[in-house]
Amino acid sequence: MYRPLWIEIDLGALRYNFQKIKKIVGRKVKVMATLKQEAYGHGLIPLAKELSFLGVDFFGLGSLEEAIALRREGLEGPILILSAVDKKFAGELIKYKVTPTVVDLSFAEKLNREAKKRNKMLSIHVKIDTGMGRLGIWYKESMYFIKKLSHFKNLKQEGLYTHFPSADTDYKFTERQIRIFNEVVGALEKEGIKFEYLHCANSIGLMRYKEAHFNLVRPGLILYGIKPSSLDIRVKPLLSLKSKVIFVKKVDKGRSISYGRTFIASRPCFVATVACGYADGYPWKLSNRSKVIIKDRVFNVVGRVCMDHIMVNLKNFPIKTGEEVILIGNSPRHKITVEDLADYCDTIPYEIVSRLSLKIPRIYKNSIHPKH
Ligand SMILES: *Cc1c(COP(=O)(O)O)cnc(C)c1O
Repeated sequence: MYRPLWIEIDLGALRYNFQKIKKIVGRKVKVMATLKQEAYGHGLIPLAKELSFLGVDFFGLGSLEEAIALRREGLEGPILILSAVDKKFAGELIKYKVTPTVVDLSFAEKLNREAKKRNKMLSIHVKIDTGMGRLGIWYKESMYFIKKLSHFKNLKQEGLYTHFPSADTDYKFTERQIRIFNEVVGALEKEGIKFEYLHCANSIGLMRYKEAHFNLVRPGLILYGIKPSSLDIRVKPLLSLKSKVIFVKKVDKGRSISYGRTFIASRPCFVATVACGYADGYPWKLSNRSKVIIKDRVFNVVGRVCMDHIMVNLKNFPIKTGEEVILIGNSPRHKITVEDLADYCDTIPYEIVSRLSLKIPRIYKNSIHPKH
Protein backbone atom coordinates (compact mmCIF):
# COMPACT_ATOMS: atom_id res chain seq x y z
CA MET A 1 0.00 0.00 0.00
CA TYR A 2 1.80 3.09 -1.23
CA ARG A 3 -0.95 5.68 -0.99
CA PRO A 4 -2.08 5.98 2.62
CA LEU A 5 -5.81 5.43 2.33
CA TRP A 6 -7.56 2.34 3.63
CA ILE A 7 -10.80 0.98 5.05
CA GLU A 8 -10.95 -1.14 8.19
CA ILE A 9 -13.89 -3.49 8.59
CA ASP A 10 -14.64 -4.83 12.07
CA LEU A 11 -16.14 -8.30 11.68
CA GLY A 12 -16.61 -8.42 15.45
CA ALA A 13 -19.16 -5.62 15.00
CA LEU A 14 -20.83 -7.63 12.22
CA ARG A 15 -21.15 -10.55 14.62
CA TYR A 16 -22.60 -8.27 17.29
CA ASN A 17 -25.16 -6.75 14.92
CA PHE A 18 -26.16 -10.09 13.43
CA GLN A 19 -26.72 -11.63 16.85
CA LYS A 20 -28.70 -8.56 17.89
CA ILE A 21 -30.97 -8.96 14.87
CA LYS A 22 -31.39 -12.68 15.59
CA LYS A 23 -32.44 -11.82 19.11
CA ILE A 24 -34.96 -9.22 17.96
CA VAL A 25 -36.67 -11.49 15.44
CA GLY A 26 -36.55 -14.66 17.53
CA ARG A 27 -35.78 -18.26 16.67
CA LYS A 28 -38.67 -18.82 14.31
CA VAL A 29 -37.72 -16.07 11.87
CA LYS A 30 -34.87 -16.56 9.41
CA VAL A 31 -32.45 -13.85 8.39
CA MET A 32 -31.43 -12.87 4.87
CA ALA A 33 -28.30 -10.71 4.91
CA THR A 34 -28.70 -8.06 2.24
CA LEU A 35 -25.25 -7.83 0.67
CA LYS A 36 -25.92 -6.08 -2.64
CA GLN A 37 -23.33 -3.73 -4.18
CA GLU A 38 -20.31 -5.32 -2.49
CA ALA A 39 -22.17 -5.50 0.81
CA TYR A 40 -22.85 -1.76 0.72
CA GLY A 41 -19.18 -1.17 -0.02
CA HIS A 42 -17.92 -3.30 2.88
CA GLY A 43 -16.77 -6.15 0.62
CA LEU A 44 -19.02 -9.01 -0.41
CA ILE A 45 -16.87 -12.12 0.01
CA PRO A 46 -15.39 -11.52 3.48
CA LEU A 47 -18.79 -10.53 4.89
CA ALA A 48 -20.58 -13.45 3.25
CA LYS A 49 -18.00 -15.89 4.61
CA GLU A 50 -18.25 -14.52 8.12
CA LEU A 51 -22.06 -14.48 8.04
CA SER A 52 -22.17 -17.97 6.66
CA PHE A 53 -20.00 -19.10 9.54
CA LEU A 54 -22.34 -17.27 11.95
CA GLY A 55 -25.29 -19.20 10.55
CA VAL A 56 -27.11 -16.71 8.32
CA ASP A 57 -30.00 -18.35 6.44
CA PHE A 58 -30.03 -16.45 3.12
CA PHE A 59 -27.97 -14.02 1.09
CA GLY A 60 -29.86 -11.23 -0.67
CA LEU A 61 -27.79 -10.02 -3.62
CA GLY A 62 -28.22 -7.52 -6.42
CA SER A 63 -26.91 -9.44 -9.42
CA LEU A 64 -25.99 -12.79 -10.88
CA GLU A 65 -22.34 -11.64 -10.91
CA GLU A 66 -22.39 -11.36 -7.12
CA ALA A 67 -24.13 -14.72 -6.78
CA ILE A 68 -21.59 -16.52 -8.96
CA ALA A 69 -18.76 -14.85 -7.03
CA LEU A 70 -20.14 -16.41 -3.82
CA ARG A 71 -20.51 -19.84 -5.41
CA ARG A 72 -16.93 -19.67 -6.71
CA GLU A 73 -15.80 -19.05 -3.14
CA GLY A 74 -17.54 -22.25 -2.12
CA LEU A 75 -20.47 -20.62 -0.35
CA GLU A 76 -23.45 -22.90 -0.80
CA GLY A 77 -26.26 -21.25 1.16
CA PRO A 78 -29.46 -20.00 -0.47
CA ILE A 79 -29.07 -16.84 -2.55
CA LEU A 80 -31.95 -14.63 -3.66
CA ILE A 81 -31.35 -12.06 -6.39
CA LEU A 82 -33.33 -8.99 -5.35
CA SER A 83 -33.38 -7.61 -8.87
CA ALA A 84 -34.56 -8.94 -12.23
CA VAL A 85 -32.21 -11.14 -14.28
CA ASP A 86 -32.38 -11.30 -18.08
CA LYS A 87 -34.07 -14.51 -19.17
CA LYS A 88 -31.11 -15.41 -21.38
CA PHE A 89 -29.27 -16.28 -18.14
CA ALA A 90 -31.83 -18.86 -17.02
CA GLY A 91 -29.24 -21.63 -17.50
CA GLU A 92 -26.74 -19.93 -15.18
CA LEU A 93 -29.37 -19.50 -12.46
CA ILE A 94 -30.03 -23.24 -12.55
CA LYS A 95 -26.38 -24.21 -12.83
CA TYR A 96 -25.36 -22.11 -9.81
CA LYS A 97 -28.53 -22.85 -7.80
CA VAL A 98 -29.45 -19.18 -7.48
CA THR A 99 -33.01 -18.17 -6.65
CA PRO A 100 -34.36 -15.46 -8.95
CA THR A 101 -37.05 -12.92 -8.22
CA VAL A 102 -39.88 -13.59 -10.66
CA VAL A 103 -42.02 -10.70 -11.91
CA ASP A 104 -42.52 -11.76 -15.50
CA LEU A 105 -44.32 -14.75 -17.03
CA SER A 106 -42.06 -15.14 -20.06
CA PHE A 107 -39.07 -15.27 -17.69
CA ALA A 108 -40.81 -17.99 -15.64
CA GLU A 109 -41.58 -19.91 -18.81
CA LYS A 110 -37.95 -19.84 -19.89
CA LEU A 111 -36.74 -20.86 -16.41
CA ASN A 112 -39.16 -23.75 -16.39
CA ARG A 113 -38.10 -24.91 -19.84
CA GLU A 114 -34.39 -24.78 -18.96
CA ALA A 115 -34.95 -26.53 -15.62
CA LYS A 116 -36.97 -29.26 -17.31
CA LYS A 117 -34.22 -29.80 -19.90
CA ARG A 118 -31.76 -30.40 -17.09
CA ASN A 119 -34.22 -32.41 -15.05
CA LYS A 120 -33.94 -29.93 -12.17
CA MET A 121 -36.25 -27.99 -9.86
CA LEU A 122 -35.52 -24.28 -9.40
CA SER A 123 -36.74 -22.30 -6.39
CA ILE A 124 -38.16 -18.88 -7.15
CA HIS A 125 -39.46 -15.96 -5.12
CA VAL A 126 -42.33 -13.87 -6.46
CA LYS A 127 -42.28 -10.17 -5.70
CA ILE A 128 -45.45 -8.17 -5.49
CA ASP A 129 -45.74 -4.41 -5.55
CA THR A 130 -47.77 -3.12 -2.63
CA GLY A 131 -46.57 0.47 -2.95
CA MET A 132 -42.83 0.61 -3.62
CA GLY A 133 -43.42 1.03 -7.34
CA ARG A 134 -40.07 -0.37 -8.41
CA LEU A 135 -40.06 -4.09 -9.18
CA GLY A 136 -43.00 -6.41 -8.65
CA ILE A 137 -46.39 -7.55 -9.85
CA TRP A 138 -49.03 -5.02 -8.84
CA TYR A 139 -50.82 -6.73 -5.98
CA LYS A 140 -54.21 -6.60 -7.68
CA GLU A 141 -52.82 -8.70 -10.53
CA SER A 142 -50.84 -11.05 -8.32
CA MET A 143 -53.51 -13.79 -7.94
CA TYR A 144 -53.73 -14.29 -11.68
CA PHE A 145 -49.95 -14.20 -12.03
CA ILE A 146 -49.20 -16.68 -9.25
CA LYS A 147 -51.90 -19.10 -10.36
CA LYS A 148 -50.29 -19.10 -13.81
CA LEU A 149 -46.91 -19.80 -12.25
CA SER A 150 -48.21 -22.87 -10.48
CA HIS A 151 -48.50 -24.58 -13.87
CA PHE A 152 -44.73 -24.60 -14.24
CA LYS A 153 -43.79 -27.99 -12.85
CA ASN A 154 -40.05 -27.41 -12.59
CA LEU A 155 -40.37 -24.22 -10.57
CA LYS A 156 -40.87 -24.27 -6.84
CA GLN A 157 -42.73 -21.19 -5.62
CA GLU A 158 -40.65 -20.94 -2.50
CA GLY A 159 -41.08 -17.32 -1.51
CA LEU A 160 -43.42 -14.37 -1.77
CA TYR A 161 -42.26 -10.88 -0.90
CA THR A 162 -42.78 -7.15 -1.09
CA HIS A 163 -40.80 -4.04 -0.12
CA PHE A 164 -41.52 -0.89 1.92
CA PRO A 165 -40.72 2.57 0.52
CA SER A 166 -41.29 4.54 3.72
CA ALA A 167 -41.24 2.34 6.79
CA ASP A 168 -39.48 5.16 8.65
CA THR A 169 -41.81 8.02 7.82
CA ASP A 170 -45.27 6.70 6.99
CA TYR A 171 -46.80 4.23 9.44
CA LYS A 172 -50.20 4.28 7.81
CA PHE A 173 -48.89 3.48 4.37
CA THR A 174 -46.62 0.71 5.65
CA GLU A 175 -49.40 -0.83 7.74
CA ARG A 176 -51.60 -0.78 4.67
CA GLN A 177 -48.87 -2.59 2.70
CA ILE A 178 -48.66 -5.27 5.41
CA ARG A 179 -52.45 -5.65 5.31
CA ILE A 180 -52.47 -5.98 1.51
CA PHE A 181 -49.66 -8.56 1.68
CA ASN A 182 -51.62 -10.59 4.23
CA GLU A 183 -54.73 -10.42 2.07
CA VAL A 184 -52.85 -11.74 -0.96
CA VAL A 185 -51.35 -14.56 1.16
CA GLY A 186 -54.81 -15.43 2.54
CA ALA A 187 -56.43 -15.46 -0.90
CA LEU A 188 -53.68 -17.71 -2.25
CA GLU A 189 -54.05 -20.11 0.64
CA LYS A 190 -57.71 -20.45 -0.19
CA GLU A 191 -56.63 -21.59 -3.65
CA GLY A 192 -54.25 -24.10 -2.11
CA ILE A 193 -51.11 -22.10 -2.93
CA LYS A 194 -48.64 -21.79 -0.05
CA PHE A 195 -45.16 -20.32 0.06
CA GLU A 196 -42.45 -21.57 2.37
CA TYR A 197 -41.12 -18.04 2.93
CA LEU A 198 -42.97 -14.76 3.28
CA HIS A 199 -40.87 -11.63 3.68
CA CYS A 200 -41.26 -7.84 3.71
CA ALA A 201 -38.98 -6.24 6.23
CA ASN A 202 -35.81 -4.27 5.53
CA SER A 203 -33.94 -2.83 8.56
CA ILE A 204 -36.50 -0.21 9.47
CA GLY A 205 -39.42 -2.50 8.72
CA LEU A 206 -37.84 -5.11 10.99
CA MET A 207 -37.39 -2.65 13.86
CA ARG A 208 -40.73 -0.92 13.59
CA TYR A 209 -43.24 -3.59 12.59
CA LYS A 210 -43.12 -6.94 14.33
CA GLU A 211 -46.08 -8.04 12.25
CA ALA A 212 -43.88 -7.57 9.14
CA HIS A 213 -41.37 -10.24 10.19
CA PHE A 214 -43.38 -13.18 8.81
CA ASN A 215 -40.75 -15.94 8.71
CA LEU A 216 -37.85 -14.13 7.01
CA VAL A 217 -36.39 -10.62 7.31
CA ARG A 218 -33.98 -8.79 4.98
CA PRO A 219 -31.79 -6.38 6.97
CA GLY A 220 -29.05 -4.42 5.24
CA LEU A 221 -28.25 -1.15 6.97
CA ILE A 222 -28.39 -2.28 10.61
CA LEU A 223 -26.22 -5.29 9.82
CA TYR A 224 -23.50 -2.77 8.91
CA GLY A 225 -24.12 -0.89 12.14
CA ILE A 226 -25.63 2.13 10.43
CA LYS A 227 -28.96 3.44 11.59
CA PRO A 228 -31.36 6.29 11.14
CA SER A 229 -31.30 8.40 14.32
CA SER A 230 -34.93 7.58 14.98
CA LEU A 231 -34.26 3.86 15.44
CA ASP A 232 -34.00 2.47 18.93
CA ILE A 233 -31.32 -0.17 18.47
CA ARG A 234 -27.69 -0.28 19.52
CA VAL A 235 -25.60 -1.53 16.65
CA LYS A 236 -21.89 -1.15 16.05
CA PRO A 237 -20.52 0.35 12.84
CA LEU A 238 -18.22 -1.95 10.88
CA LEU A 239 -16.46 0.55 8.68
CA SER A 240 -13.67 3.04 9.33
CA LEU A 241 -12.06 5.15 6.61
CA LYS A 242 -8.50 6.19 7.38
CA SER A 243 -5.70 8.12 5.74
CA LYS A 244 -2.61 10.06 6.69
CA VAL A 245 -1.41 13.62 6.69
CA ILE A 246 0.88 13.90 3.65
CA PHE A 247 1.83 17.58 3.95
CA VAL A 248 1.58 20.37 6.53
CA LYS A 249 2.03 24.08 5.95
CA LYS A 250 1.74 27.31 7.90
CA VAL A 251 -0.85 29.60 6.31
CA ASP A 252 -0.92 33.35 6.88
CA LYS A 253 -4.12 35.32 7.37
CA GLY A 254 -5.75 36.06 4.00
CA ARG A 255 -4.34 33.08 2.08
CA SER A 256 -6.80 30.78 0.29
CA ILE A 257 -7.18 27.00 0.23
CA SER A 258 -8.14 24.79 -2.75
CA TYR A 259 -10.16 25.28 -5.95
CA GLY A 260 -12.54 28.18 -6.16
CA ARG A 261 -10.80 29.81 -3.15
CA THR A 262 -13.85 29.13 -1.00
CA PHE A 263 -11.80 29.18 2.23
CA ILE A 264 -9.72 32.20 3.18
CA ALA A 265 -7.75 31.99 6.42
CA SER A 266 -9.15 34.57 8.82
CA ARG A 267 -6.13 34.11 11.08
CA PRO A 268 -2.77 32.35 10.77
CA CYS A 269 -3.10 28.56 10.97
CA PHE A 270 -1.55 25.22 10.09
CA VAL A 271 -3.23 23.33 7.25
CA ALA A 272 -2.79 19.62 6.55
CA THR A 273 -3.24 17.92 3.19
CA VAL A 274 -4.77 14.44 3.47
CA ALA A 275 -4.77 11.67 0.84
CA CYS A 276 -8.47 11.20 0.17
CA GLY A 277 -10.71 12.86 -2.40
CA TYR A 278 -13.94 12.65 -4.31
CA ALA A 279 -12.56 9.98 -6.65
CA ASP A 280 -12.26 7.79 -3.55
CA GLY A 281 -15.93 8.35 -2.80
CA TYR A 282 -15.48 11.20 -0.32
CA PRO A 283 -18.20 13.50 -1.68
CA TRP A 284 -17.29 16.87 -3.19
CA LYS A 285 -20.29 18.21 -1.34
CA LEU A 286 -18.37 17.76 1.91
CA SER A 287 -16.25 20.78 0.89
CA ASN A 288 -16.01 23.15 3.89
CA ARG A 289 -18.50 20.96 5.78
CA SER A 290 -17.04 17.75 7.13
CA LYS A 291 -14.67 16.97 9.98
CA VAL A 292 -11.85 14.52 10.57
CA ILE A 293 -10.12 13.19 13.68
CA ILE A 294 -6.35 13.45 14.12
CA LYS A 295 -4.64 12.52 17.40
CA ASP A 296 -8.00 12.32 19.16
CA ARG A 297 -8.97 15.87 18.17
CA VAL A 298 -11.62 16.97 15.70
CA PHE A 299 -10.66 19.32 12.84
CA ASN A 300 -12.62 20.92 10.00
CA VAL A 301 -12.18 20.15 6.33
CA VAL A 302 -11.54 23.49 4.66
CA GLY A 303 -11.84 24.45 1.00
CA ARG A 304 -13.13 22.22 -1.73
CA VAL A 305 -12.64 18.47 -1.75
CA CYS A 306 -10.26 17.64 -4.65
CA MET A 307 -10.05 14.46 -6.71
CA ASP A 308 -7.24 12.99 -4.57
CA HIS A 309 -6.96 15.34 -1.60
CA ILE A 310 -8.66 17.25 1.15
CA MET A 311 -7.28 20.02 3.32
CA VAL A 312 -7.79 20.21 7.06
CA ASN A 313 -7.53 23.26 9.30
CA LEU A 314 -5.20 22.32 12.16
CA LYS A 315 -5.59 25.79 13.73
CA ASN A 316 -2.55 26.14 15.96
CA PHE A 317 -1.75 22.42 16.32
CA PRO A 318 1.35 21.68 14.22
CA ILE A 319 0.53 18.04 13.53
CA LYS A 320 3.23 16.08 11.74
CA THR A 321 3.29 14.53 8.30
CA GLY A 322 2.47 10.83 8.55
CA GLU A 323 -0.04 11.23 11.36
CA GLU A 324 -3.14 9.04 10.99
CA VAL A 325 -6.40 10.74 9.96
CA ILE A 326 -9.80 9.21 10.71
CA LEU A 327 -12.38 10.28 8.13
CA ILE A 328 -14.98 7.78 9.34
CA GLY A 329 -14.56 5.99 12.66
CA ASN A 330 -13.69 6.41 16.33
CA SER A 331 -10.84 7.70 18.43
CA PRO A 332 -10.89 7.42 22.24
CA ARG A 333 -12.91 10.61 22.67
CA HIS A 334 -14.52 11.27 19.30
CA LYS A 335 -16.35 9.63 16.46
CA ILE A 336 -17.40 10.49 12.94
CA THR A 337 -20.11 8.24 11.60
CA VAL A 338 -21.36 7.46 8.12
CA GLU A 339 -24.61 9.09 9.23
CA ASP A 340 -22.69 12.30 10.11
CA LEU A 341 -21.13 12.47 6.64
CA ALA A 342 -24.51 11.85 5.04
CA ASP A 343 -25.98 14.69 7.10
CA TYR A 344 -23.14 17.09 6.24
CA CYS A 345 -23.78 16.69 2.52
CA ASP A 346 -27.50 16.13 2.51
CA THR A 347 -27.60 12.53 1.34
CA ILE A 348 -28.36 9.12 2.83
CA PRO A 349 -25.83 6.83 4.57
CA TYR A 350 -26.42 4.14 1.92
CA GLU A 351 -24.91 6.42 -0.71
CA ILE A 352 -21.83 7.23 1.36
CA VAL A 353 -20.78 3.61 2.00
CA SER A 354 -21.77 2.11 -1.34
CA ARG A 355 -19.75 4.73 -3.24
CA LEU A 356 -16.48 4.32 -1.37
CA SER A 357 -14.15 3.34 -4.17
CA LEU A 358 -13.51 -0.37 -4.52
CA LYS A 359 -9.88 0.55 -5.19
CA ILE A 360 -9.43 1.43 -1.51
CA PRO A 361 -7.92 -1.59 0.26
CA ARG A 362 -10.23 -3.18 2.86
CA ILE A 363 -8.60 -4.60 5.97
CA TYR A 364 -10.72 -7.14 7.86
CA LYS A 365 -10.37 -7.44 11.62
CA ASN A 366 -11.72 -9.65 14.41
CA SER A 367 -12.93 -12.52 12.25
CA ILE A 368 -13.81 -15.76 13.98
CA HIS A 369 -13.92 -17.62 10.66
CA PRO A 370 -11.23 -20.31 10.95
CA LYS A 371 -9.98 -19.81 7.40
CA HIS A 372 -9.97 -16.07 7.34
C1 LIG B 1 -31.59 -3.13 -0.11
C2 LIG B 1 -32.79 -3.94 0.21
C3 LIG B 1 -33.06 -4.34 1.53
C4 LIG B 1 -32.26 -3.89 2.73
O1 LIG B 1 -32.63 -2.58 3.08
P1 LIG B 1 -32.01 -1.83 4.37
O2 LIG B 1 -32.77 -0.57 4.43
O3 LIG B 1 -30.57 -1.61 4.07
O4 LIG B 1 -32.21 -2.71 5.54
C5 LIG B 1 -34.13 -5.19 1.73
N1 LIG B 1 -34.91 -5.59 0.70
C6 LIG B 1 -34.69 -5.19 -0.57
C7 LIG B 1 -35.60 -5.65 -1.65
C8 LIG B 1 -33.63 -4.35 -0.86
O5 LIG B 1 -33.42 -3.95 -2.11
